[in-house]
Amino acid sequence: MKNWLETVEPLVYESRIKVPYTWSVGEVGSRFLIELRDHKKIYGTRCPRCDRVYLPPKKPAVNVS
Ligand SMILES: [Zn+2]
Repeated sequence: MKNWLETVEPLVYESRIKVPYTWSVGEVGSRFLIELRDHKKIYGTRCPRCDRVYLPPKKPAVNVS
């Protein structure tokens, strides 16, 4: 017996779903947001290897030489 679904055009229902979520911004992200909120300062991080400043800040990479 043939699968009945193979004999018809599948129906597609288009919609949107709401998926509330929260996540931790981590140590560096928290510092950035707290400095901004409490002191109106924009906090970045400077890479000790290439001297670039990252904004938004990111945690310095572990030494891989
Ligand atoms: Zn770097």
